[in-house]
Amino acid sequence: MTVPLVDLRAQYREIGAEVEPVVREIMADGRFVLGPEVERLEREFASFCGVSAAVGVASGTDALQLALEALGIGPGDEVVVPVNTFIATALAVSMVGARPVFVDTDPDTYNLSAGHVEKALTPRTRAVIPVHLYGQAVDMDPLKRLARERGFAIVEDACQAHGAEYNGVRVGGFGDIGCFSFYPGKNLGAFGDGGMVVTGNEKLAEKVAVLRNVGRRGKYEHLVKGHNSRLDNIQAAILLVKLKHLRQWNDARRQWAKLYGKMFTGLPLVCPRELESVRHVYHLYVIRVKERDALADHLHRKGIATGVHYPIPIHLQQAYKELGHKKGDFPVAEQVAGEILSLPMYPELGEDGVAAVVDAVRSFYS
Ligand SMILES: *Cc1c(COP(=O)(O)O)cnc(C)c1O
Repeated sequence: MTVPLVDLRAQYREIGAEVEPVVREIMADGRFVLGPEVERLEREFASFCGVSAAVGVASGTDALQLALEALGIGPGDEVVVPVNTFIATALAVSMVGARPVFVDTDPDTYNLSAGHVEKALTPRTRAVIPVHLYGQAVDMDPLKRLARERGFAIVEDACQAHGAEYNGVRVGGFGDIGCFSFYPGKNLGAFGDGGMVVTGNEKLAEKVAVLRNVGRRGKYEHLVKGHNSRLDNIQAAILLVKLKHLRQWNDARRQWAKLYGKMFTGLPLVCPRELESVRHVYHLYVIRVKERDALADHLHRKGIATGVHYPIPIHLQQAYKELGHKKGDFPVAEQVAGEILSLPMYPELGEDGVAAVVDAVRSFYS
């Protein structure tokens, strides 16, 4: 049995019949960009996240950039970013002209912590981007307390955490503004790129709405130098169909994570640790092992796909060499980067899929 890392074809078999008539109708009607489906998705996704406003944009990267821009962050400002994340978190900071200030990783959750952030604050710090990595919410209470004391904005990077909860409340609305990606492989994914900004602050939402649409108000009036970062109707319509399944898909991911955990008992590997306060949605199922590369090769030979999220911490990426970081600056993140391995995880994985992966892992150790 071969098991892919994600299986979008299996998902399409489930929802294809729901999606196809909707897409056909939009094509026949010729309403392609920022139409009624986008507005409906914005309302429904805002409500899903428990906030008053949402603005559809072209990608998760753009969601982060426009959120920072709407907060007025730019040259001379610093934004604290975890070093263990997808590079887009840092790129968004760079794209508004601000400086990303990196922090190390918590060895249990692989997320940043308020303790890390506190040490990185300077008089120039304008915002912090907690990334709910792999689908597990950051411990938000201490971070929010610190934000109130020290006066910085919180921009949540929830691109891997649609529907994840912290103390029973869904992520996205904990900060001043929350950012989501609808890249196809995410827990809620479009058939192409897409993203969403959510916020309880109507003024910020209005700013993002102007920024994403060439700075426009009305048709011919341009208030600011904006972007073209719009969500299209076909993607929104597909996302509306998929949003109805999200809860159940996340439940399935949690079920396979639990089964992995049970079946891995006794093996010398570290399973993901789920905090009490958190409902993890397992965008990725990431284990930690000493012989990571050898295990990955072994699994590959057995037909089991794996990934590493992420093998090079951002401070060691060539793209950020101008910041002058070196090996040893963020020792936990660097060690973790050499040991983490993402195993197959998607709602349609099934007991057989989990069992096939576990058997292959077990055969590596026997
Ligand atoms: C996917 C992702 C992004 C970027 O989203 P895109 O839609 O691909 O631009 C940002 N941050 C994290 C943590 C992500 O996983």
